[in-house]
Amino acid sequence: MSDLEAVPDVAVCEPAPGPGPVAELYPAREVPLGGVRGVFVERVLPQRDLPTVGAWCFFDHFGSPTVTKTGASPDIDPHPHIGLQTVTWPFDGRIRHRDSVGSDVEIEPGQLNLMTSGRGVAHSEYGVAGVHSGHGLQLWIALPGNSTGIDAHFEQHRELPIYQTRGLRAIILIGSLAGLTSPAEAYTPLVGADIRIEPGAEITLPVRPDFEHAVMVIEGDLAVAGTELTPGPLLYLGTERDELRLGSSTGAHFALIGGEPFGEELVMWWNFVARSHEEIVAARNDWENHDLDRFPDIAGHTPDQRIPAPPLPALHLKPRKRRMGTAHS
Ligand code: MN
Repeated sequence: MSDLEAVPDVAVCEPAPGPGPVAELYPAREVPLGGVRGVFVERVLPQRDLPTVGAWCFFDHFGSPTVTKTGASPDIDPHPHIGLQTVTWPFDGRIRHRDSVGSDVEIEPGQLNLMTSGRGVAHSEYGVAGVHSGHGLQLWIALPGNSTGIDAHFEQHRELPIYQTRGLRAIILIGSLAGLTSPAEAYTPLVGADIRIEPGAEITLPVRPDFEHAVMVIEGDLAVAGTELTPGPLLYLGTERDELRLGSSTGAHFALIGGEPFGEELVMWWNFVARSHEEIVAARNDWENHDLDRFPDIAGHTPDQRIPAPPLPALHLKPRKRRMGTAHS
């Protein structure tokens, strides 16, 4: 097959222009999960001035040793998603994941868990009785507009590619890094990696210059492209870097995310990622009206366990836009 159009429309696929190589520090916010009784997580995406990094649109660090607030329960009752993939990567503990495509699984360390919502999915995430509620990451990836209508599905991957060089070990969770590609299904060019660097190591990690990247330290100390980082904030590194210079004195465990700058405007509200206010309203109505075609019931849950959608804000929801050319440090 070949494109026979005389003037093919390339604008829809063209990535947004990147900011070039920058180093901007964005603080983590402590937010409750699942309402007032939920545990607190450290959230580094979205930020007011940085809605996405590649297609990554949401980044939570749960069970972080540096979180200062505590909540009553790590359990998240049934709730819906549209327009995104959830990536769950635990470091310890176990989580029982149940969803509306029939999954009922325990999520364990070393196992990538990827739920693709497409036009609609519902799931619950509960701590496993008698097991520490856990420490790990949950991130969301925005689906591109041509994939928002796909059917929901859930994947688990234990066999993940590892890029290893002296003093550094990177597990490629999704997407590609240093020529290695994860089997997890991605819909835009991106990377998500869990990386450990040894004490005293100085490493040059090859990355794609057409990607933008960001790093968050989970444990230890890390210097990235000349910026010193400790656990908590997100360091946004911009585009046009073909390598990241990494160093650590005591060793570090950190996450790297990146991807082609996401060229589409997104409207994010509650658990939904969409293109317009109207799409959000429709998804909220479908959840509230118990539309089983879009959000089937989850086996083992009763309807009264469903988390009700919060009221819509009075304002028309607008796309989140990146503020360009500003430095944070
Ligand atoms: Mn969820």
